[in-house]
Amino acid sequence: MSPDTQTLFGFTSVASSAQVLLSSVKPSSPAPFIPVSATPVPNTVLSHRINEYAQSHLPVPTYNHSLRVYHYGLAMKSYLFPAWAFTDETYFLACVLHDIGSTDENLKATKLSFEFYGGLLALDVLQRAPASAPETAAPKDQAESVAEAIIRHQDLCENGKITAVGQLLQLATIFDNTGAYSDCVHHSTIEDVTKHFPRIKWSSCFAATIHKENELKPWSHTTTLGENAFPEKVLGNKLMEPFE
Ligand code: ZN
Repeated sequence: MSPDTQTLFGFTSVASSAQVLLSSVKPSSPAPFIPVSATPVPNTVLSHRINEYAQSHLPVPTYNHSLRVYHYGLAMKSYLFPAWAFTDETYFLACVLHDIGSTDENLKATKLSFEFYGGLLALDVLQRAPASAPETAAPKDQAESVAEAIIRHQDLCENGKITAVGQLLQLATIFDNTGAYSDCVHHSTIEDVTKHFPRIKWSSCFAATIHKENELKPWSHTTTLGENAFPEKVLGNKLMEPFE
């Protein structure tokens, strides 16, 4: 893999500790307002195919959450990590597919934890284009970067490294789900993003999914975030409460 391709697909290693990473960047001004119109869905054939796939497989609250994660993540990246050079397309693919393993059908289809199964599904759907549109297949390296980010999106570590695209996916999902890192995104950005992609009671919807997975699979990776503590944190999301 050439260094350029590595970078464009997100294979740059960064600290996996969000705390270490965020304290290493010291922006001189508060987070700016970044409207949804400034972070459009990438206009590529691959993005269009995967966006359609996500829309037809995800319940609306999960699809909206995925798109909020896309816009919040890009807002955080432009404010805090402008040197991260991966493409919007790679991040978009990771966002729209990151919860694909959490649908009712997919939770029941496997004994694997939902992020692991979702990563495997993403690896497959990204590279397997329909015969009528072979140009919509993702390169193997890009599909692997997306799968890696999805598999690790709830793997909040204090030590070691993670890909840049995986770290951004973690930061933005935790932000939308728990309200952490509230000073990383301007309040008007939250208003604009939730206007375009309403939460439709996302906090209780996601907390119910956590309980459902933990019941079906008491060994699931989600339990490492705290079997009761994590869903309680999701339900206690004060930052997003006014938008529920
Ligand atoms: Zn999510």
